Amino acid sequence: MRDYLAFIASDLLEGREAPSRGLDIAAAFLASHLGRLGLRPAGADGTFFQPIALTRRKLAPERTTLTVGGRTLAFGDGFLPGDVTGIAEGRVVYVGNGTTIPSRGLDPFRGLDVTGCIVVSNTGLPAGFSQADLKGEQGRDWELTEDAARARGAAAVLFLPDYGVLANWTANRDIRAGRTSLSVDAFGEGAGTGLLTATLSAPAIGALFTGAPVPPQEIFQRAVRREPAAPFTLPDRTVVRLEVASAEERLQTSNVVAVLEGSDPKLREEYVALGAHYDHLGLAPEANADGDRIYNGADDDGSGTVAVLAIAEALAKTRPRPKRSVLFVWHTGEEKGLWGSRYFTEHPTVPLDRVVGHLNVDMIGRGHDGAAATNGPLALTDRDSVYVVGSQRHSAAFGALVARVNARYHGLRFDYSLDDPSDPGEIYDRSDHVHYAKRGVPIAFFFTGIHEDYHGLDDEIERIDFGKLRRIVQTIYATARAIGDDPAFAGRAASR
Ligand SMILES: [Zn+2]
Repeated sequence: MRDYLAFIASDLLEGREAPSRGLDIAAAFLASHLGRLGLRPAGADGTFFQPIALTRRKLAPERTTLTVGGRTLAFGDGFLPGDVTGIAEGRVVYVGNGTTIPSRGLDPFRGLDVTGCIVVSNTGLPAGFSQADLKGEQGRDWELTEDAARARGAAAVLFLPDYGVLANWTANRDIRAGRTSLSVDAFGEGAGTGLLTATLSAPAIGALFTGAPVPPQEIFQRAVRREPAAPFTLPDRTVVRLEVASAEERLQTSNVVAVLEGSDPKLREEYVALGAHYDHLGLAPEANADGDRIYNGADDDGSGTVAVLAIAEALAKTRPRPKRSVLFVWHTGEEKGLWGSRYFTEHPTVPLDRVVGHLNVDMIGRGHDGAAATNGPLALTDRDSVYVVGSQRHSAAFGALVARVNARYHGLRFDYSLDDPSDPGEIYDRSDHVHYAKRGVPIAFFFTGIHEDYHGLDDEIERIDFGKLRRIVQTIYATARAIGDDPAFAGRAASR
């Protein structure tokens, strides 16, 4: 595992961001070993790779325009768009301060029909109100301007700037021009589902409010000072068209998937699943004091990546093979929001209802010697302990088997404290197993805890406790083997 991790966590792989060339090299490394070990490729088209199509969107400033009364304003000088792309066109309703808190007398939309309209609003709360006034349930007791406008059928919201926006206008422009968003095509969550928004510059306000009941200068000053402002409707001839355009780039990233065929002619139709995520955070925008900007992710989740590879190797080289088949998935994009596990469980390459249990390994390479501080609910475990999460949640038989294997082997201290549904760290929802559990697969998640290098530039191989890693990996190996060999075991059936 030390040799494997020396490659997986090396600077050469540049932090294994999904998607990146470094991550693809890690995938090729895994596939090369899996082929050597004689495992069956279980990705797409007879390969070990299950590709996931991605779209990267970036604002297209040259096609992002605001037209007010026949005058077209350019991105940056005239306005700054929000994150949602699209086109909106309509007549204009000025709502003053758009936030609603009816119980405090703030209800600027009352009596106004904004259906299909472009709503213009001051930014934030009027003077005299603060975040503390947003009490109760959002959407019922109070609404932000965008939500209120959207709920009432508006087509877009144009914000007037406050001091903060004006003071940082150039920086805000550069951030918006450079911002990219990345989404998985199959999840259909790409273009943004919110309302089109933009913030207006002083020249845009002048163009918009020419001929309005209140002079543009006064509207502008009131917005900047967050003074209360009364709503009014602009003349019907005032039509605004906002277009926020994006440029799209198609990319892909892959899960790495392999199967070790079971030895029993019948039980081989069922699977024990092992998983880890082989992606990490990539490169930091700037180097630290040591000149390092590579998130090597030796523990997160280099440790799980090499653990699952070592288990695949051990199982492939041992005779007899387990009776059930063993499914290995190295997930991509865990750090981006559990992409790979969500995608795999939505597009499984083996029947998911034949998977009797899933063992997820995410960060199992660290421990403390007893002297380290152990504060907090996700505290780093000591050398003989490991958190085991979720094993008892879905199936008593599954949980009992996981505990029994350990008791008869290394006798590691299993810490079940994160399994409490009221666990404030909500670790149960934070790694790949959650998507398997959602589809009825009993899961156990192995984790040695959060340390000071978590998601930091110092999560390096030198800090891995290989002795502890070995014992945990041997325990997971033995657990997979026990599940694989027990003909009576039916984790799924037992959970029903
Ligand atoms: Zn992780």
